[in-house]
Formats: sequence, C-alpha cells, structure tokens
Amino acid sequence: MISNSGIPQVKSRYAICTSLGLLALIVFISTVLAGQNSPAYVDPQIKGALSEISAGQIQSDIEKLVSFQTRSTLSAQDPASIAAGRGIGAAREWIKSEFERYSRECAGCMQVKTDIFTQPVSDRVPSPTVLTNVYAILRGTNAEDAQRIVLVTGHYDSRNSSNDDAAGIAPGANDDASGTAVSLECARVLSKLKFPGTIIFLTVAGEEQGLYGSKHFAEMARKEGWQIEAVLNNDIVGGDRSPGQDSKTVRVFSESIADKASERDIRMIRYLGGENDSPSRELARYITETARVYQPGVVPLMEFRLDRYLRGGDHSSFNEEGFAAVRFTEFEENFTRQHQNVRTENRIEYGDLPKFVDFDYVANVARANAATLAALASAPGPPQNVKLETKELVNDSTLHWDAPADGRATAYEIVWRATSAADWEHSQHVQGSTRAMLPVSKDNVIFAVQSVDEAGHRSLAVVPSPQR
Ligand SMILES: [Zn+2]
Repeated sequence: MISNSGIPQVKSRYAICTSLGLLALIVFISTVLAGQNSPAYVDPQIKGALSEISAGQIQSDIEKLVSFQTRSTLSAQDPASIAAGRGIGAAREWIKSEFERYSRECAGCMQVKTDIFTQPVSDRVPSPTVLTNVYAILRGTNAEDAQRIVLVTGHYDSRNSSNDDAAGIAPGANDDASGTAVSLECARVLSKLKFPGTIIFLTVAGEEQGLYGSKHFAEMARKEGWQIEAVLNNDIVGGDRSPGQDSKTVRVFSESIADKASERDIRMIRYLGGENDSPSRELARYITETARVYQPGVVPLMEFRLDRYLRGGDHSSFNEEGFAAVRFTEFEENFTRQHQNVRTENRIEYGDLPKFVDFDYVANVARANAATLAALASAPGPPQNVKLETKELVNDSTLHWDAPADGRATAYEIVWRATSAADWEHSQHVQGSTRAMLPVSKDNVIFAVQSVDEAGHRSLAVVPSPQR
C-alpha cells in the first residue's frame, strides 16, 4: 500500500538542516508541504460498469465458443462450415456479430473491424492460411486523448493434443475462450460509457500456431503509428476448478527490460537499476493499484517475468513492437486439460471443457481488466520529459516534467519505493506545479510521476531520466 511519508520527513529535515537555503525552503513549502497524499479516487461510473459484468454472460460466451467444436486456426472457414456453425470461421463471424450487437446498443459507438491476412507456410502452418483478427474500437471523446489507445485481447483459436488437427474436437474453454470472453464482456459494459481516450477490444487467431495473429496486428499498429499505451492480454483466465487453484488471485506477467531497449537504454538500466521499471512493469503496477481501488474480486499477483517459464503469449508480440503489454493468467494451470484431446484415461478426464471453468473467476478477471482500461482511458496523458536533477550532490531529490499535451492534468502524483521493493510504497501529491523537491535521497529509491486530472484519474507512472 502507498503511504505518505513525505510530511513527517519534511519536518525532521527542516529542523536538522537549516543550511538548505531560502530557495530550497520555498520549493519545499510550495510543493511538498502544500501537497498531500491524495486518497485513491473511485470513479462511480467505472464502479457501476464493473457491477454490470456478468458471470452468466461470460458462461454463455464461453459455451458458444466451445459449440463451434474446434477453433483451430487450420479448421474450416468456408461458407458451408460457417453456416453449419463449425470451425474457426463460424467462431470469427459470431464474435464479429457480438461486437456489432454491442455497438448497435450504444447507437453505433464502436467501429467493428477485421484484420485479415494470409499467413504463408511456416512452422505449424502447413499451407497458406487466412487469419482474421476481430476487433472493436471505442473511440475517445477528446481529440487529443483519442490518439492514446488502451487494448484488451484474447485469442479465439484453440487446439487439442495435435497442433495439426484441423477437424478434431478442440473446445478450448479455458485456453482461450476465457480470454476472448473477457474482451467481449469488457466491450459490452464499457461501450455504454464515454471516455476521453480510445479503447480497443481485440480477439486474435493463430496464437497456438505461433502468435501469428497478434504479430500481424501489433506490426500493423506500429507501422500505422498507433499510440498504444497499454495491452492487457488474457490467456487461460478460466480459474480451472482444481484443488491447487487460488480463485482470489490472478497472475500478471510483465517483461523486465523492454524488448525495444537500445544499447544506450540498457547501459543506463544497468547503471541506475532500472531493470524493474520497463513500461510493461509500470503497467503491471497500475493494474495492481487499480485493483486495490476497485476491488474486482481477484488480487493481481505481479510476476516479474515475461511469461510462464519458457512459454509465450500474445502480449510478447506487442512488446516486440515497442508497446507496454502484460499477460493475465489464472493462479495455477491444469495441464491435463490444456492442449489435450477430450478423453478419459486411468480415470483422469482430459480436455479443455467448460465444466472445469469457474465463470465467477473469469468475471472477476474481466472486472480487473475493465477497471484498468476505464481508468487509463479516463486519465490524462502521462507526464512528458520527466527528469531527476543531478547537477549537485545533495540528499534531496528534485524532479521536473512537462504537462501532457491534452491539457487535462491539474495535478501530479510522485510515487517512490525502495530500490529492492516490488511496488510503490509512498506518494506525494503535487498541485499546480511541474516541479517538486522531496526530502528523500535518489540514491535509495526509485521515483516515478503520474498525471492526475480534476476528478482524480491517474495516468501510468513515468520513471525520470537523469538531468545532468
Ligand atoms: Zn492460450
């Protein structure tokens, strides 16, 4: 939890150190002493949307996706199969029709689109195959903020024991109808609201064959210059009903050093200790903080690792294109169910069936996602050019930054933590200034700054770079 240690420290420091000089005192008085740790803001509109997320709706989404029998990327997508409700083509058309229905219900508030391409012969793709990503855009209401995009995704393709099996039953209820249902449910409830920033609800194909759908989409986003601020990938969020499951916890995986970090960035990270402060990790902390505020029913457990050990997922496609992206996954996976033909052997039931999914859990994960998407789409842009002054050797720390371009930041929150701590421990509210001095040594902590709007929505945190 974040606590405000600023004010008591200011007093002791003020008493001990009278040689700070008039200028420093003025900065203290005008920033730290005047500021307070603002209580976390609960937006009633966001809280209302979370209460509309329905485990029943999620159950019906997952059962519908399973009803297509297989959603293998290699399965049928011809008109007859679509009409018969079998194969990935039928799944794709149904997802599209759901997004379109939600959009009709909000007077066309969303643009429903497809990203269609032919994946050439490649690993696990034996012949050229058409892949379709389906997505809905809820465009932001503020011209400047609408450029900023937050995105939620899940993969709608499935597989059984063989990745080459294009026709056999592959229910994929947990992996990853659950993540697809999170995207759909976030679209259903958040499309009823308006946000300054843009939200994209995405479902991708080709994950099981090698992340091909997400790669194509992330590349397109980078080439077209989309300003994606956050990607929430939900893959295996079904809360499998096994004895080892913890239905109150969801793991959130994040990369350490950003995939796109330059040689110079890496040198600075090594020099200053920035290996736990990639943009993806700041996003993971934001998700954790948002869950503390909105209490979605699951607690995010930050995993400081790109993904599960030696395994991968669609968020890494976005990381590779330079975007902050994390993966949500249930606390404990059950490997007799994932990627298995449906069968019973030695009294063990294999296969990824809806009866093993905890729909209340998926709903809570959807709430954690929706809260993050809504909070970020409501917030002003992050502060720009955040700098930590290092010209003089002093035990205080002075930060300065530029306001975000949207002009909506009325205040800022400086957060900090011990270098060995996983999450922010302290914060200081700064009203009406883009500079602050804190009586905390930069040698011992990691700082970051968030923009805050009039209501109290907070942006992602930005770690300063040194200003020499
Ligand atoms: Zn998966």
